[in-house]
Amino acid sequence: MITASSGRAAQHWKPFKPNRGECQLCPRHCRPKNERMGFCGVRGTVDGEIRTFNYGQSLAATEEIIETEAVNHFSPGARILSMGNVGCMMACSFCQNWETSQIKHLDYKMVRDYTPQQLVEMCLQNDIPIISWTYNDPVVWHEFVVETSRLAQKNGIKTLYKSAFYIEEEPVKELIEYIDIFSLSLKSLNEAFYQKQTRARLKPVLERIKQVAASGKHLELSQLVIPELNDSDQDIIDTINWVKKHTGKYTPLHFVAFHPAYQYTHVERTDIATLKRARELALAKGMQYVYLGNAYEEGLNNTLCQSCGATLVSRYGLHSSPQNLDNAGCCTQCGTQSAISHPDLNKNSKKQEQSIKGDLKNRLAINWSDEVQSAHILQIKSAVETDHLRIRSIQPQGSSQPILEKTLSAGLDRFIISRQSEKETGVVLSWDSDSLYHNLAVLDRAHYPTDLDLDAQTTSEHQAIFQ
Ligand code: SF4
Repeated sequence: MITASSGRAAQHWKPFKPNRGECQLCPRHCRPKNERMGFCGVRGTVDGEIRTFNYGQSLAATEEIIETEAVNHFSPGARILSMGNVGCMMACSFCQNWETSQIKHLDYKMVRDYTPQQLVEMCLQNDIPIISWTYNDPVVWHEFVVETSRLAQKNGIKTLYKSAFYIEEEPVKELIEYIDIFSLSLKSLNEAFYQKQTRARLKPVLERIKQVAASGKHLELSQLVIPELNDSDQDIIDTINWVKKHTGKYTPLHFVAFHPAYQYTHVERTDIATLKRARELALAKGMQYVYLGNAYEEGLNNTLCQSCGATLVSRYGLHSSPQNLDNAGCCTQCGTQSAISHPDLNKNSKKQEQSIKGDLKNRLAINWSDEVQSAHILQIKSAVETDHLRIRSIQPQGSSQPILEKTLSAGLDRFIISRQSEKETGVVLSWDSDSLYHNLAVLDRAHYPTDLDLDAQTTSEHQAIFQ
């Protein structure tokens, strides 16, 4: 229940009637009655003012890699700190994170409270160069995003904004000031699709994408390809034509496989043939960089030098490995400048790749399957302030290769591990402390797996506010 003292001052609103505000953050312009929430369920009116009720409230901060966010041309393989808030300004029937985006389904046990300072410190202490605003949609915790991104910028940390971008022009001007990387999803070029399947409108999304493109900020676009909803050749061609005309043929374009979720469960996952067909259509129309998300096949998503054809980045699923790429983003084989920017941000990750001999005292083994090729690793009991882990890749016939040695500190207790190649059958984590670890299957890159028995924190206050 909203009370006069709850929430924090919000930006981007105006008075509507006595005791009632009009929110102007997204194109809905909700006018909630006093002590009621708007459509997103996390902004509401108190004493005539719009207030925000999810400032700093997020799922557990999770270390992932930048490819998780459909970003392939900015520091490949860079580690990111993924932050997923609660609530959403849309209500997609096929939402891949509906348990956290749709407030009525949220289990408050998953919600934690963070401050901008905590997140920046977590990045600095764990050598993570990028904060990613992601999962449900960052639009609806705008104040926290802007404040934290401003602090991150002061501390040399980049920021990434992954969004369906149903948002107004003024808040986007603020984002352009502080956000380094935009990964925006365009769900369709069909207005009726937007209204029926997402309960939003298409035109504002297109205008805001154009606004970011005009700013010159790093921009990649993606479309979730959903069987029977937006997977026809015409649907795909409409998207391609719009992207080519308005953001240009060099914009990286990602076609992403859907997994059945929320209210759209009567179909199978998007098959890889459909994604490949979409890519053929895009290449035939002149798009230069077309990638396929949630698609596991060797060589499918590599980035090649456009001059000599050398592989600049090889990828498998969420794993990526830069090669033939110098710190300025030039091909080391022919010297041509590539489309990859900031390849050097990844250098701290490289430092962690050391020669690993054998396991430490405690072990956790994970086996990959066709369905599960990534997992979130959760530290469910911390025994030391900084934990050291070794991770080995298990190869055919049980042989193994070291992957990396990593540390977790400053409250970071969750990270992703992904299959590196078709031949890798699993991974083994080991550690010496008495900490406890658990793993949760990640179904695709937009998916934040939940396990309510294990996710740590709950407060009755969260539950009360959003009722
Ligand atoms: S951000 Fe939320 S409250 Fe504001 S207009 Fe959009 S849906 Fe309504």
